[in-house]
Amino acid sequence: MVEYAGKMADNSTRLDEILRRATAEPRALSHDDLKLLVSLTDEGEVKAMRDAAYELKVRHCGKVVSMRGIIEMGNVCSKDCHYCGIRKSNPCIERYSLSVDDVVRLAKIDIAERYASLVLQSGEIESEAHTSFIEECLRRIQSLPGGPLGITLSLGEQEESVYARWKAAGASRYLLRIETSNPKLYAKLHPADHSWARRDECLDALRRCGYQVGTGVMSALPGQTTDDLASDIEYFARKDVDMIGMGPFIPHHDTPLADSADTGTPKDADRRRRLRLGLNMISATRLHLHDVNIAATTALQALADDGREQGVLAGANVMMPNITDTAYRRKYQLYDGKPCLDENSLACRFCLERRLAAIGEKINYSKRGDSAHFFSRTGRPE
Ligand code: SAH
Ligand code: SF4
Repeated sequence: MVEYAGKMADNSTRLDEILRRATAEPRALSHDDLKLLVSLTDEGEVKAMRDAAYELKVRHCGKVVSMRGIIEMGNVCSKDCHYCGIRKSNPCIERYSLSVDDVVRLAKIDIAERYASLVLQSGEIESEAHTSFIEECLRRIQSLPGGPLGITLSLGEQEESVYARWKAAGASRYLLRIETSNPKLYAKLHPADHSWARRDECLDALRRCGYQVGTGVMSALPGQTTDDLASDIEYFARKDVDMIGMGPFIPHHDTPLADSADTGTPKDADRRRRLRLGLNMISATRLHLHDVNIAATTALQALADDGREQGVLAGANVMMPNITDTAYRRKYQLYDGKPCLDENSLACRFCLERRLAAIGEKINYSKRGDSAHFFSRTGRPE
Protein backbone atom coordinates (compact mmCIF):
# COMPACT_ATOMS: atom_id res chain seq x y z
CA MET A 1 0.00 0.00 0.00
CA VAL A 2 2.82 2.33 1.00
CA GLU A 3 4.62 1.39 -2.20
CA TYR A 4 1.42 2.00 -4.24
CA ALA A 5 0.89 5.43 -2.66
CA GLY A 6 4.53 6.21 -3.44
CA LYS A 7 4.02 5.27 -7.09
CA MET A 8 0.91 7.47 -7.36
CA ALA A 9 2.86 10.38 -5.87
CA ASP A 10 5.72 9.79 -8.36
CA ASN A 11 3.28 9.77 -11.25
CA SER A 12 1.62 12.99 -10.05
CA THR A 13 4.95 14.76 -9.63
CA ARG A 14 5.92 13.67 -13.11
CA LEU A 15 2.55 14.81 -14.46
CA ASP A 16 2.93 18.24 -12.81
CA GLU A 17 6.35 18.60 -14.38
CA ILE A 18 5.07 17.54 -17.83
CA LEU A 19 2.16 19.98 -17.66
CA ARG A 20 4.43 22.86 -16.59
CA ARG A 21 6.79 22.13 -19.49
CA ALA A 22 3.93 21.70 -21.99
CA THR A 23 2.24 24.97 -21.11
CA ALA A 24 5.53 26.91 -21.22
CA GLU A 25 6.24 26.19 -24.89
CA PRO A 26 4.89 24.12 -27.81
CA ARG A 27 6.40 20.80 -28.90
CA ALA A 28 8.05 20.25 -25.55
CA LEU A 29 6.83 16.69 -24.99
CA SER A 30 8.68 13.42 -25.57
CA HIS A 31 7.11 10.17 -26.80
CA ASP A 32 7.01 8.89 -23.20
CA ASP A 33 5.38 12.11 -21.95
CA LEU A 34 2.66 11.80 -24.61
CA LYS A 35 2.18 8.15 -23.77
CA LEU A 36 1.68 8.99 -20.11
CA LEU A 37 -0.86 11.71 -20.97
CA VAL A 38 -3.01 9.62 -23.32
CA SER A 39 -3.09 6.70 -20.90
CA LEU A 40 -4.19 8.67 -17.80
CA THR A 41 -7.22 7.19 -16.03
CA ASP A 42 -7.05 8.58 -12.48
CA GLU A 43 -9.83 11.18 -12.15
CA GLY A 44 -7.68 13.84 -10.46
CA GLU A 45 -4.83 13.41 -12.94
CA VAL A 46 -7.17 13.47 -15.94
CA LYS A 47 -8.70 16.71 -14.60
CA ALA A 48 -5.27 18.30 -14.13
CA MET A 49 -4.37 17.45 -17.74
CA ARG A 50 -7.69 18.71 -19.14
CA ASP A 51 -7.49 21.96 -17.13
CA ALA A 52 -3.98 22.66 -18.45
CA ALA A 53 -5.08 21.93 -22.04
CA TYR A 54 -8.19 24.12 -21.66
CA GLU A 55 -6.05 26.98 -20.35
CA LEU A 56 -3.96 26.73 -23.56
CA LYS A 57 -7.13 26.64 -25.68
CA VAL A 58 -8.33 29.86 -24.02
CA ARG A 59 -4.88 31.45 -24.41
CA HIS A 60 -4.76 30.76 -28.16
CA CYS A 61 -8.43 30.81 -29.23
CA GLY A 62 -10.31 32.70 -26.48
CA LYS A 63 -13.51 31.55 -24.75
CA VAL A 64 -15.26 31.00 -28.07
CA VAL A 65 -15.95 27.99 -30.24
CA SER A 66 -15.80 28.35 -34.04
CA MET A 67 -18.56 26.64 -36.00
CA ARG A 68 -18.52 24.94 -39.38
CA GLY A 69 -21.88 23.66 -40.56
CA ILE A 70 -21.25 20.24 -42.10
CA ILE A 71 -23.04 19.21 -45.29
CA GLU A 72 -23.00 15.44 -45.86
CA MET A 73 -23.12 15.66 -49.65
CA GLY A 74 -23.50 11.99 -50.45
CA ASN A 75 -22.82 8.47 -49.21
CA VAL A 76 -21.51 6.96 -52.47
CA CYS A 77 -17.96 5.77 -51.81
CA SER A 78 -15.39 3.88 -53.88
CA LYS A 79 -13.51 2.81 -50.74
CA ASP A 80 -14.10 -0.09 -48.40
CA CYS A 81 -12.59 0.95 -45.05
CA HIS A 82 -13.44 -1.90 -42.65
CA TYR A 83 -14.75 0.45 -39.92
CA CYS A 84 -17.08 2.69 -41.91
CA GLY A 85 -20.85 2.36 -42.26
CA ILE A 86 -20.95 3.81 -45.80
CA ARG A 87 -18.14 1.60 -47.21
CA LYS A 88 -18.92 0.43 -50.72
CA SER A 89 -19.64 -3.20 -49.76
CA ASN A 90 -22.37 -2.32 -47.29
CA PRO A 91 -25.51 -3.35 -49.21
CA CYS A 92 -27.85 -2.24 -46.42
CA ILE A 93 -27.90 1.49 -47.12
CA GLU A 94 -29.71 3.45 -49.75
CA ARG A 95 -27.21 5.62 -51.60
CA TYR A 96 -27.84 9.34 -52.24
CA SER A 97 -26.02 12.29 -53.78
CA LEU A 98 -27.10 15.89 -53.26
CA SER A 99 -27.42 18.20 -56.27
CA VAL A 100 -25.57 21.51 -56.63
CA ASP A 101 -28.85 23.31 -55.85
CA ASP A 102 -29.27 21.27 -52.63
CA VAL A 103 -25.74 22.10 -51.51
CA VAL A 104 -26.16 25.81 -52.26
CA ARG A 105 -29.50 25.86 -50.39
CA LEU A 106 -27.81 24.32 -47.32
CA ALA A 107 -24.90 26.78 -47.58
CA LYS A 108 -27.48 29.60 -47.36
CA ILE A 109 -28.62 28.11 -44.04
CA ASP A 110 -25.01 28.15 -42.83
CA ILE A 111 -24.80 31.85 -43.75
CA ALA A 112 -28.12 32.58 -42.03
CA GLU A 113 -26.84 30.86 -38.87
CA ARG A 114 -23.75 33.19 -39.06
CA TYR A 115 -21.32 30.27 -38.83
CA ALA A 116 -19.08 31.88 -41.54
CA SER A 117 -17.48 28.50 -42.33
CA LEU A 118 -18.70 25.18 -43.61
CA VAL A 119 -17.49 21.65 -44.34
CA LEU A 120 -18.38 19.70 -47.48
CA GLN A 121 -17.97 15.99 -46.79
CA SER A 122 -18.84 12.81 -48.68
CA GLY A 123 -17.62 9.37 -49.60
CA GLU A 124 -14.53 9.29 -51.80
CA ILE A 125 -15.06 9.58 -55.56
CA GLU A 126 -12.30 10.21 -58.08
CA SER A 127 -13.75 11.29 -61.43
CA GLU A 128 -13.86 14.33 -63.68
CA ALA A 129 -17.63 14.59 -63.18
CA HIS A 130 -17.21 14.71 -59.38
CA THR A 131 -14.31 17.17 -59.58
CA SER A 132 -16.31 19.63 -61.67
CA PHE A 133 -19.43 19.10 -59.54
CA ILE A 134 -17.45 20.19 -56.45
CA GLU A 135 -15.99 23.13 -58.38
CA GLU A 136 -19.47 24.29 -59.29
CA CYS A 137 -20.67 23.97 -55.68
CA LEU A 138 -17.68 26.01 -54.48
CA ARG A 139 -18.08 28.77 -57.09
CA ARG A 140 -21.78 29.15 -56.43
CA ILE A 141 -21.41 29.13 -52.62
CA GLN A 142 -18.59 31.67 -52.70
CA SER A 143 -20.64 34.09 -54.78
CA LEU A 144 -23.62 34.05 -52.38
CA PRO A 145 -24.45 37.28 -50.52
CA GLY A 146 -23.02 36.95 -47.01
CA GLY A 147 -19.94 35.07 -48.26
CA PRO A 148 -17.25 34.23 -48.98
CA LEU A 149 -17.11 31.48 -46.39
CA GLY A 150 -14.19 29.53 -44.95
CA ILE A 151 -14.80 26.22 -46.74
CA THR A 152 -13.25 22.94 -45.58
CA LEU A 153 -13.36 19.97 -47.93
CA SER A 154 -13.36 16.41 -46.60
CA LEU A 155 -13.52 14.40 -49.81
CA GLY A 156 -10.71 11.90 -49.43
CA GLU A 157 -7.66 11.12 -51.54
CA GLN A 158 -7.38 12.92 -54.87
CA GLU A 159 -4.74 13.88 -57.43
CA GLU A 160 -2.81 17.06 -56.60
CA SER A 161 -4.28 18.72 -59.71
CA VAL A 162 -7.79 18.10 -58.32
CA TYR A 163 -6.86 19.61 -54.94
CA ALA A 164 -5.46 22.62 -56.85
CA ARG A 165 -8.68 23.05 -58.87
CA TRP A 166 -10.82 22.97 -55.73
CA LYS A 167 -8.54 25.48 -54.03
CA ALA A 168 -8.84 27.81 -57.03
CA ALA A 169 -12.64 27.42 -56.94
CA GLY A 170 -12.83 28.71 -53.34
CA ALA A 171 -11.92 26.03 -50.77
CA SER A 172 -9.33 27.07 -48.18
CA ARG A 173 -9.07 24.06 -45.87
CA TYR A 174 -8.92 20.29 -46.33
CA LEU A 175 -9.42 17.57 -43.77
CA LEU A 176 -7.92 14.16 -44.54
CA ARG A 177 -7.42 11.92 -41.55
CA ILE A 178 -4.44 9.59 -41.66
CA GLU A 179 -6.68 7.40 -39.41
CA THR A 180 -3.59 5.95 -37.67
CA SER A 181 0.06 6.89 -38.03
CA ASN A 182 0.99 3.19 -37.84
CA PRO A 183 1.04 1.79 -41.42
CA LYS A 184 0.78 -1.81 -40.11
CA LEU A 185 -2.37 -1.04 -38.13
CA TYR A 186 -3.71 0.90 -41.15
CA ALA A 187 -3.22 -2.22 -43.27
CA LYS A 188 -5.33 -4.27 -40.84
CA LEU A 189 -8.18 -1.75 -40.98
CA HIS A 190 -8.35 -1.47 -44.76
CA PRO A 191 -8.41 -3.73 -47.82
CA ALA A 192 -5.02 -4.41 -49.44
CA ASP A 193 -5.47 -1.82 -52.19
CA HIS A 194 -5.93 1.09 -49.72
CA SER A 195 -2.56 2.76 -49.26
CA TRP A 196 -1.30 4.52 -46.12
CA ALA A 197 1.56 5.96 -48.17
CA ARG A 198 -0.82 7.58 -50.64
CA ARG A 199 -2.83 9.19 -47.84
CA ASP A 200 0.38 10.51 -46.32
CA GLU A 201 1.45 11.90 -49.72
CA CYS A 202 -1.95 13.53 -50.20
CA LEU A 203 -1.34 15.57 -47.04
CA ASP A 204 1.91 16.87 -48.58
CA ALA A 205 0.08 17.66 -51.84
CA LEU A 206 -2.56 19.62 -49.93
CA ARG A 207 0.13 21.64 -48.25
CA ARG A 208 1.81 22.40 -51.58
CA CYS A 209 -1.55 23.65 -52.86
CA GLY A 210 -1.70 26.20 -50.01
CA TYR A 211 -4.57 24.72 -47.98
CA GLN A 212 -4.91 24.95 -44.23
CA VAL A 213 -4.25 21.24 -43.78
CA GLY A 214 -6.11 19.08 -41.32
CA THR A 215 -5.59 15.48 -40.38
CA GLY A 216 -6.53 13.22 -37.50
CA VAL A 217 -6.92 9.69 -36.27
CA MET A 218 -9.42 7.47 -34.57
CA SER A 219 -8.65 6.39 -31.01
CA ALA A 220 -9.75 3.11 -29.40
CA LEU A 221 -9.20 1.20 -32.64
CA PRO A 222 -8.92 -2.58 -32.29
CA GLY A 223 -5.23 -3.49 -31.96
CA GLN A 224 -4.14 0.10 -31.24
CA THR A 225 -1.65 0.72 -28.41
CA THR A 226 -0.83 3.83 -26.35
CA ASP A 227 2.48 3.88 -28.24
CA ASP A 228 0.45 4.25 -31.45
CA LEU A 229 -1.54 7.15 -29.97
CA ALA A 230 1.60 8.96 -28.80
CA SER A 231 3.07 8.42 -32.29
CA ASP A 232 -0.12 9.85 -33.82
CA ILE A 233 0.47 13.15 -32.01
CA GLU A 234 4.12 13.11 -33.07
CA TYR A 235 2.91 12.56 -36.64
CA PHE A 236 0.69 15.69 -36.41
CA ALA A 237 3.74 17.64 -35.23
CA ARG A 238 5.98 16.22 -37.98
CA LYS A 239 3.44 17.08 -40.67
CA ASP A 240 3.08 20.53 -39.07
CA VAL A 241 -0.67 20.44 -39.67
CA ASP A 242 -2.99 23.36 -38.96
CA MET A 243 -6.16 21.51 -37.93
CA ILE A 244 -6.95 18.27 -36.17
CA GLY A 245 -10.23 16.36 -36.45
CA MET A 246 -10.15 13.16 -34.45
CA GLY A 247 -12.49 11.07 -32.40
CA PRO A 248 -13.02 7.65 -30.93
CA PHE A 249 -13.74 4.72 -33.22
CA ILE A 250 -17.32 3.51 -32.70
CA PRO A 251 -18.30 0.17 -34.25
CA HIS A 252 -20.98 0.15 -36.98
CA HIS A 253 -23.20 -2.94 -37.01
CA ASP A 254 -22.94 -3.59 -40.79
CA THR A 255 -19.15 -3.59 -41.04
CA PRO A 256 -16.39 -6.18 -40.57
CA LEU A 257 -15.47 -4.42 -37.29
CA ALA A 258 -19.02 -4.67 -35.88
CA ASP A 259 -17.93 -6.92 -33.02
CA SER A 260 -14.76 -5.13 -32.04
CA ALA A 261 -16.09 -3.65 -28.81
CA ASP A 262 -14.12 -4.95 -25.83
CA THR A 263 -15.39 -8.47 -25.28
CA GLY A 264 -16.27 -9.14 -21.67
CA THR A 265 -16.46 -5.41 -20.83
CA PRO A 266 -19.89 -4.05 -19.96
CA LYS A 267 -21.19 -1.68 -22.66
CA ASP A 268 -21.08 1.39 -20.42
CA ALA A 269 -17.48 0.80 -19.43
CA ASP A 270 -16.54 0.35 -23.10
CA ARG A 271 -18.18 3.68 -24.02
CA ARG A 272 -16.47 5.43 -21.12
CA ARG A 273 -13.11 4.05 -22.25
CA ARG A 274 -13.64 5.25 -25.83
CA LEU A 275 -14.73 8.69 -24.60
CA ARG A 276 -11.80 8.98 -22.19
CA LEU A 277 -9.29 8.09 -24.89
CA GLY A 278 -10.88 10.55 -27.34
CA LEU A 279 -10.71 13.36 -24.75
CA ASN A 280 -7.18 12.45 -23.63
CA MET A 281 -6.05 12.67 -27.26
CA ILE A 282 -7.53 16.18 -27.56
CA SER A 283 -5.79 17.34 -24.38
CA ALA A 284 -2.43 15.78 -25.21
CA THR A 285 -2.56 17.26 -28.74
CA ARG A 286 -3.41 20.75 -27.44
CA LEU A 287 -0.61 20.49 -24.88
CA HIS A 288 1.91 19.50 -27.55
CA LEU A 289 0.85 21.73 -30.47
CA HIS A 290 -0.73 24.80 -28.78
CA ASP A 291 -2.15 26.93 -31.64
CA VAL A 292 -3.78 24.42 -34.02
CA ASN A 293 -7.54 24.20 -34.50
CA ILE A 294 -8.94 21.07 -32.84
CA ALA A 295 -12.50 19.85 -33.42
CA ALA A 296 -14.78 18.40 -30.75
CA THR A 297 -16.23 15.81 -33.13
CA THR A 298 -19.71 14.33 -33.21
CA ALA A 299 -18.36 10.87 -32.33
CA LEU A 300 -17.78 12.24 -28.80
CA GLN A 301 -21.45 13.18 -28.60
CA ALA A 302 -22.41 9.68 -29.72
CA LEU A 303 -20.75 8.39 -26.54
CA ALA A 304 -22.07 11.00 -24.08
CA ASP A 305 -24.80 13.59 -24.45
CA ASP A 306 -22.35 16.35 -23.48
CA GLY A 307 -19.38 14.73 -25.26
CA ARG A 308 -18.63 17.75 -27.46
CA GLU A 309 -18.69 20.18 -24.52
CA GLN A 310 -16.34 17.82 -22.71
CA GLY A 311 -14.19 18.04 -25.86
CA VAL A 312 -14.04 21.84 -25.56
CA LEU A 313 -13.13 21.62 -21.87
CA ALA A 314 -10.39 19.16 -22.87
CA GLY A 315 -8.90 21.72 -25.31
CA ALA A 316 -10.94 21.69 -28.57
CA ASN A 317 -12.06 25.00 -30.17
CA VAL A 318 -14.15 23.93 -33.18
CA MET A 319 -17.54 22.22 -33.59
CA MET A 320 -19.23 20.99 -36.73
CA PRO A 321 -23.01 21.15 -36.36
CA ASN A 322 -24.83 19.08 -38.96
CA ILE A 323 -26.81 21.21 -41.43
CA THR A 324 -27.72 18.37 -43.82
CA ASP A 325 -31.49 17.88 -44.34
CA THR A 326 -32.73 15.50 -41.67
CA ALA A 327 -34.13 13.21 -44.42
CA TYR A 328 -30.55 12.27 -45.43
CA ARG A 329 -28.86 12.03 -42.03
CA ARG A 330 -29.87 8.42 -41.41
CA LYS A 331 -28.26 7.40 -44.69
CA TYR A 332 -24.92 8.92 -43.66
CA GLN A 333 -24.07 6.87 -40.59
CA LEU A 334 -20.37 6.15 -40.38
CA TYR A 335 -20.86 4.58 -36.94
CA ASP A 336 -23.75 3.47 -34.73
CA GLY A 337 -25.51 5.94 -32.44
CA LYS A 338 -25.05 9.09 -34.56
CA PRO A 339 -26.78 11.90 -32.62
CA CYS A 340 -29.08 14.73 -33.81
CA LEU A 341 -30.76 12.69 -36.55
CA ASP A 342 -33.99 14.67 -36.27
CA GLU A 343 -33.02 18.20 -35.15
CA ASN A 344 -33.03 20.86 -37.86
CA SER A 345 -30.19 23.38 -38.03
CA LEU A 346 -31.99 26.11 -36.09
CA ALA A 347 -32.80 23.72 -33.25
CA CYS A 348 -29.14 22.59 -33.34
CA ARG A 349 -27.90 26.16 -32.97
CA PHE A 350 -30.17 26.95 -30.02
CA CYS A 351 -29.08 23.70 -28.41
CA LEU A 352 -25.38 24.55 -28.99
CA GLU A 353 -25.78 28.08 -27.60
CA ARG A 354 -27.31 26.67 -24.45
CA ARG A 355 -24.72 23.93 -24.09
CA LEU A 356 -21.80 26.32 -24.60
CA ALA A 357 -23.25 28.90 -22.19
CA ALA A 358 -23.35 26.14 -19.56
CA ILE A 359 -19.55 25.83 -19.78
CA GLY A 360 -18.88 29.59 -20.02
CA GLU A 361 -18.20 29.56 -23.79
CA LYS A 362 -19.87 31.28 -26.76
CA ILE A 363 -20.32 30.66 -30.47
CA ASN A 364 -17.73 32.63 -32.49
CA TYR A 365 -20.46 34.16 -34.71
CA SER A 366 -19.55 35.66 -38.09
CA LYS A 367 -15.87 34.73 -37.73
CA ARG A 368 -14.26 32.12 -39.93
CA GLY A 369 -12.03 30.90 -37.11
CA ASP A 370 -9.07 30.10 -39.35
CA SER A 371 -6.17 28.18 -37.86
CA ALA A 372 -3.80 30.50 -35.97
CA HIS A 373 -1.04 27.98 -36.69
CA PHE A 374 -1.55 28.37 -40.45
CA PHE A 375 -0.98 32.11 -40.22
CA SER A 376 2.04 31.78 -37.99
CA ARG A 377 3.67 29.20 -40.30
CA THR A 378 2.90 31.04 -43.55
CA GLY A 379 3.31 34.58 -42.18
CA ARG A 380 0.03 35.57 -43.82
CA PRO A 381 -2.28 37.93 -41.94
CA GLU A 382 -5.80 36.72 -41.03
N1 SAH B 1 -14.56 9.79 -47.24
C1 SAH B 1 -13.85 10.85 -46.60
C2 SAH B 1 -14.71 11.63 -45.64
C3 SAH B 1 -15.81 10.92 -44.93
S1 SAH B 1 -15.32 9.77 -43.71
C4 SAH B 1 -12.63 10.30 -45.90
O1 SAH B 1 -12.59 9.11 -45.60
O2 SAH B 1 -11.72 11.10 -45.65
C5 SAH B 1 -14.78 10.86 -42.41
C6 SAH B 1 -14.12 10.19 -41.23
O3 SAH B 1 -15.06 9.41 -40.53
C7 SAH B 1 -13.02 9.21 -41.55
O4 SAH B 1 -11.80 9.86 -41.78
C8 SAH B 1 -13.01 8.32 -40.30
O5 SAH B 1 -11.96 8.70 -39.41
C9 SAH B 1 -14.36 8.60 -39.63
N2 SAH B 1 -15.08 7.33 -39.39
C10 SAH B 1 -15.47 6.42 -40.29
N3 SAH B 1 -16.02 5.34 -39.67
C11 SAH B 1 -15.96 5.59 -38.34
C12 SAH B 1 -16.34 4.86 -37.16
N4 SAH B 1 -16.89 3.64 -37.26
N5 SAH B 1 -16.13 5.42 -35.96
C13 SAH B 1 -15.60 6.67 -35.85
N6 SAH B 1 -15.20 7.40 -36.92
C14 SAH B 1 -15.37 6.87 -38.15
FE1 SF4 C 1 -15.42 5.93 -47.72
FE2 SF4 C 1 -14.36 7.74 -46.01
FE3 SF4 C 1 -15.96 5.72 -45.15
FE4 SF4 C 1 -13.51 5.13 -46.02
S1 SF4 C 1 -14.02 6.40 -44.22
S2 SF4 C 1 -15.41 4.02 -46.56
S3 SF4 C 1 -13.27 6.64 -47.66
S4 SF4 C 1 -16.52 7.42 -46.46
